[in-house]
Amino acid sequence: MSELLAPAVRLDDRFARALPELALPWQAEEAPEPDLLLLNEPLAAELGLDPAALRTPEGVGLLVGTAVPDGARPVAQAYSGHQFGGYSPRLGDGRALLLGELVDGHGAVRDLHLKGSGRTPFARGGDGLAAVGPMLREYVVSEAMHALGIPTTRALAVVATGRQVRRETLLPGAVLARVASSHLRVGSFQYARATDDVDLLRRLADLAIERHHPHAAQAENRYLALFEAVLEVQASLVAQWMLVGFIHGVMNTDNMTISGETIDYGPCAFLEAYDPDTVYSSIDEGGRYRLGNQPLAAEWNLARLAEALLPLIAEDTDRAVALAVETLKTFRPRYDAALADGMRAKLGLPADADTAGLVDDLLELLRAGHVDWTSFFRRLADAARGDAEPVRLLFLDLAGIDGWLERWRALGPDGTAMDRVNPVYIPRNHLVEEALDAAAAGDTTLVEELLAVLAAPFDERPDHERYAAPAPQDFGATFRTFCGT
Ligand code: AMP
Ligand code: MG
Repeated sequence: MSELLAPAVRLDDRFARALPELALPWQAEEAPEPDLLLLNEPLAAELGLDPAALRTPEGVGLLVGTAVPDGARPVAQAYSGHQFGGYSPRLGDGRALLLGELVDGHGAVRDLHLKGSGRTPFARGGDGLAAVGPMLREYVVSEAMHALGIPTTRALAVVATGRQVRRETLLPGAVLARVASSHLRVGSFQYARATDDVDLLRRLADLAIERHHPHAAQAENRYLALFEAVLEVQASLVAQWMLVGFIHGVMNTDNMTISGETIDYGPCAFLEAYDPDTVYSSIDEGGRYRLGNQPLAAEWNLARLAEALLPLIAEDTDRAVALAVETLKTFRPRYDAALADGMRAKLGLPADADTAGLVDDLLELLRAGHVDWTSFFRRLADAARGDAEPVRLLFLDLAGIDGWLERWRALGPDGTAMDRVNPVYIPRNHLVEEALDAAAAGDTTLVEELLAVLAAPFDERPDHERYAAPAPQDFGATFRTFCGT
């Protein structure tokens, strides 16, 4: 369709070729008046795409899926999923398309994927669309996660379509172009397993090994090794979420990747005052995906992955279960170790420091005092350098924090090292909402400013205090994220 872009963008269809049973060829809906709201130029360059070409009408056509380069074959991917614990055998891309794969500047295969590109056969009751606000939200939060050094899908662009989307009110529609090392999920394996086609399941597992965990191919039991590799990357990922106070909000098995990247930024939010019971999502009534439950939710999802992989792990089911359970049991120690290492780093302490009691006592002080998680660690670095006043100001229980600081200081914390791992700037909910509101009214300046601040989260800038401050009290207490994305 678009000869202009065809030579510049070479999109492969290797997923569709390897797994036709999971790939439904489909096309994006026309966008009546496409308007490029945000383009991630550094990411475009990393992918070998010319930002200037992406800004042309043909380029924007690619970013909404209506100008498909020659040779590309967009597909909706099939997957199943446990949503809040209930199994849905057929989810799939209801409003998304995999445009194809490209090879980045480092030789790595990356998916180019669209969200909000119209109804597909997986749409069920949905309209297949997405609104500008939630797509900008995914852009901002996923790019912030990337800058924090946490594995994540990336955002390449948001294009307003010129089409209205009906939610509680009529909203402007948009398509998000996102990039991932793949979109293989726990739910992909659940879907393949449910077909009872072991050959399909094996091809899926082989693709996952090739793309994400090639060392598993060397193991005696490569599929058990694949399971272990996913378990390891997810233990590490969830520990990193906890260390920055990220609450995913919808950790369904269809939203958990095989690569270990964070995916699907819906009702997610960053923690302000520390409380393991924090829930922001309006639909998470039981608190299944509350902050402190994320490791358990991940482990539960991994058990579903193990179930899906059983026929590949061993021919004898009892033996397969025994092997899978043995591996699954290593999730908690791996997670605990990743979290403990990360907490030691946040506290500026050497790797051999014994911090178990110190961390537990700190968490209790933070919880009891409703202390802002991000500000605390940043100010604690000042205390390491000899000025404890800023951090003391965060507490009413001064005797409590003073006693704790004394024990911590005795271990010789390094304030400079702390500043390298504790961010000053996170996508605070009130800042994100404010920027999205302005963008919805047609002004993307605030979103762009916020993105620029969040791109260097560890570098404190004196004129950016408002980006480091917690939300005003009246905002924080009532803030909810909505899944009506
Ligand atoms: P999520 O919880 O956003 O990851 O989505 C769960 C499932 O619902 C996936 O199969 C999505 O493709 C589908 N879905 C979400 N929103 C829509 C929509 N507006 N139209 C069609 N399908 C949707
Ligand atoms: Mg999803």
